[in-house]
Amino acid sequence: MIVTRKKPFEAILKELEDAGSVFLIGCADCATVAETGGEDQIKEMTEKLTAEGKEVTGNVIPETGCHELDVKKEFRAHKEEVGRADAILCMSCGAGCQSARDATEKPVYPANDSIFLGNVMRVGQFEEKCRLCGDCVLDLTGGICPVTRCHKGILNGPCGGTNEGKCEVDPEKDCAWTLIYQQLEREGKLDRMRAIQAPKNWGPVLKPGRHVLERDKGGE
Ligand code: SF4
Ligand code: SF4
Repeated sequence: MIVTRKKPFEAILKELEDAGSVFLIGCADCATVAETGGEDQIKEMTEKLTAEGKEVTGNVIPETGCHELDVKKEFRAHKEEVGRADAILCMSCGAGCQSARDATEKPVYPANDSIFLGNVMRVGQFEEKCRLCGDCVLDLTGGICPVTRCHKGILNGPCGGTNEGKCEVDPEKDCAWTLIYQQLEREGKLDRMRAIQAPKNWGPVLKPGRHVLERDKGGE
C-alpha cells in the first residue's frame, strides 16, 4: 500500500487560504488503512475546516483514489457539491490527488504527504520493503530486498559497518545483508554471497512510469 502522513493542519490552511469552500476527497483503500483519508479523518477535517470558517460542500471516499475512471464517476455524481467548492482537498496519496486533478478544473490541494510503498506490519505500523526499482533482484538475495532494506542500498553486502546483525546507520534496524546471509544459508545457497553484482541499472525506473498490459487477443 501507499503510506501517507497527514500534513500539519496549519499547512493545509495555508494551501486553502484563497478558498472559502472546500470539497473533500478521501480513499477507501490505502489512505483509510493509513488513517489519513478514511471516514473518520474526513469527519475530523470537516469539523476543523468548519471551525476555521470554511464551508465544506461535501465529500467522497472512492474505493481507490488512484482509479481515475472511478474518481471521475464520483465527481460526476457529486457535481453540485464539487461545483460549489472553491477548491478540492485531497486526503489520499499524490496519485489520488492527481486523479482528482483530472476529474475537475478546480484547484486541487494535498492534505497528506506520500512517503513510501509500505507493508502493513500491524494496525498503524508500516515498513518499506520495496522501492519499485524496476529490476527485481530478490531471486539473488533470498527474497530480502537490499535496495530498500539496506540503508546504503548496496548490492554487494554487507558493508564494513554491520554489527551483530544490526545496521551501523540505524542500530534499531536489522542489517539487511545479515538477513540475506542467514536466509541463503538456510537455503544452502551461500555461494550467491560471493557473486559480484554489477552496479544497478536504474534505467527501468525512468519517470514518469507507464505500463500497458499486453492483452491476449485470442483466436488470432
Ligand atoms: S529489488 Fe527491491 S526495490 Fe527492486 S523491485 Fe525487487 S523488492 Fe522492489
Ligand atoms: S550495516 Fe547492513 S543494512 Fe546497514 S548499510 Fe551496512 S550492509 Fe546495509
